[in-house]
Amino acid sequence: MTPRERPAEYSTIPALDADLVDCRACPRLVAWREEVGRVKRAAFRDQTYWARPVPGFGPHDARLAVVGLAPAAHGANRTGRMFTGDRSGDFLYAAMYAVGLASQPTAVEIGDGLELFGTRVTSPVHCAPPDNKPTPAERDNCNHWLASELDLLSPGLGAVVVLGGFGWQALFPVLDRAGWHIPRPRPKFGHGTHVVLDPDDSGTVSEPLHVFGCYHVSQQNTFTGRLTSEMLEQVLRDAAAAAGVPATPAR
Ligand code: SF4
Repeated sequence: MTPRERPAEYSTIPALDADLVDCRACPRLVAWREEVGRVKRAAFRDQTYWARPVPGFGPHDARLAVVGLAPAAHGANRTGRMFTGDRSGDFLYAAMYAVGLASQPTAVEIGDGLELFGTRVTSPVHCAPPDNKPTPAERDNCNHWLASELDLLSPGLGAVVVLGGFGWQALFPVLDRAGWHIPRPRPKFGHGTHVVLDPDDSGTVSEPLHVFGCYHVSQQNTFTGRLTSEMLEQVLRDAAAAAGVPATPAR
């Protein structure tokens, strides 16, 4: 342990997740996630929504992290698993399957058999926000969860893929606190951006971290062709190689 201020101490990711799912620190987001779970979308009327904070998904010793924005109201907020049950997740997991980071190309619900290889999918905000837009205060409120999660992964964490500018903005202060040196000015977000962060003088982490920018998998980007499957697969492939995640492509 170093003198650097550390996030709340958890010895395991399951212990972290057990506390996370009970968090009610953001009144606006708590009200929204629960209202969405009561009102529901017509197609899911017979389902019980999760309507709580959504924890990260993937192995507890992942060398690669994929960081999004926040759970979708009728996707992860319904199913309780990151990027599960909506078109954004379909796009992400199909690409992860194509490059060998997932066991199957679809994500429907917890218990559907999906397994991630060497990769954990998480987000800087863990509750569904109205219009997919958390406030800066909500982002700052939530980022200690991400800090703790990355802290637990950091002995082996080699790369992070950040989906979109919001995640990029949220992640760098977390990485700064976690023990990596952040260049000034801070690197700007862009699709295909690749930044290598060295450990800072605190000694908290010992290995460099590769950070990759990628457009978010929202329908705004995927339906318009701004982000294609090939573009996402290329970033995932590069990041897996940088992290040393052995992957067996599906095709
Ligand atoms: S967004 Fe994060 S900090 Fe806010 S209530 Fe949800 S889990 Fe807690």
